[in-house]
Amino acid sequence: MTISPDVLDGPSNDRSDPNQPPDSPTPLPSATLGGESRRSVEQITLLLFITLPFLALIAAVPLAWGWGVSWLDLGLLVAMYYIGCHGITIGFHRYFTHGSFKAKRPLRIALAVMGSLAVEGPLVRWVADHRKHHKFSDAEGDPHSPWRYGETVPALLKGLWWAHMGWMFDEEQTPQHKYAPDLIKDPAIRAVSRQFVLWTVVSLLLPPLVGGLATMSWQGALTAFFWGSLVRVALLHHVTWSINSICHAVGKRPFKSRDKSGNVWWLAVLSCGESWHNLHHADPTCARHGVERGQLDSSARIIRWCELAGWAYDVRWPRRSRIDSRRVGTDGAESRRKEHTAEAA
Ligand SMILES: [Zn+2]
Ligand SMILES: [Zn+2]
Repeated sequence: MTISPDVLDGPSNDRSDPNQPPDSPTPLPSATLGGESRRSVEQITLLLFITLPFLALIAAVPLAWGWGVSWLDLGLLVAMYYIGCHGITIGFHRYFTHGSFKAKRPLRIALAVMGSLAVEGPLVRWVADHRKHHKFSDAEGDPHSPWRYGETVPALLKGLWWAHMGWMFDEEQTPQHKYAPDLIKDPAIRAVSRQFVLWTVVSLLLPPLVGGLATMSWQGALTAFFWGSLVRVALLHHVTWSINSICHAVGKRPFKSRDKSGNVWWLAVLSCGESWHNLHHADPTCARHGVERGQLDSSARIIRWCELAGWAYDVRWPRRSRIDSRRVGTDGAESRRKEHTAEAA
């Protein structure tokens, strides 16, 4: 199944399909419970799970010295963090948004569920927003550019806040049928996306269930909930949003992209390799974002394991010539860049 290339890819798309039919004539059901409406049950859920874990994170530091963090709690935090984070980076982002590899059916469903456990909104909404971000990156129409208000320091500070969290409360909704028709057509993916509230409940109850059963105590369940659920979700949210804010404001830019995306090394481990964001915007369908020697990218490593296991195939690994043609100071991408700037305007 193919979708419009300007939706899938940024400047470097080379998988265009001229025979691609226009949007499906038969309207499909919405992949989120509230449809295109902002004031949906998901929106309220999202608001709750942005504010509550944030407060938990603020409380976490003093509590760590006085009360109840066990090795089990830390283990649950780390395990749940990386399950959700890789669900987002490998699943929602590299697979569903950009199609950087193909997946057998069980892996496709597993990635949809894993990413949903990160509590970052329904799958189809996530993908629609992110495809729109690539289409307009840092120009008008980008749902979360930190440059929205201008380039002065106060404007950038305001813009960073917008890119980090504010954009999620924007009334304007990315149309799912326009930006993610391929996902809406798949009944299983539509169902996973619509069950966002269920995955949120599962994600939050799993740690206290394990903690409570392992210690056979309510106290164990409570501390596991605090660390494994609340603090974990808060940390993952802020790391994910940092890709939108920090990685579009600072960082090295060795590759040509028509936006202000940067490579931020100190976020690489926590973001599972997503903070090599300048390369990602220069070559959006590439399955590996950390393409240089020593650039940690755990998501790419896991995609490789899935490929070896036979679950993932047609992986778009970086080729040296392709990467080199995108470096600043080389020709070739320059005309593409102009073309896309004109398109975004
Ligand atoms: Zn970006
Ligand atoms: Zn992307």
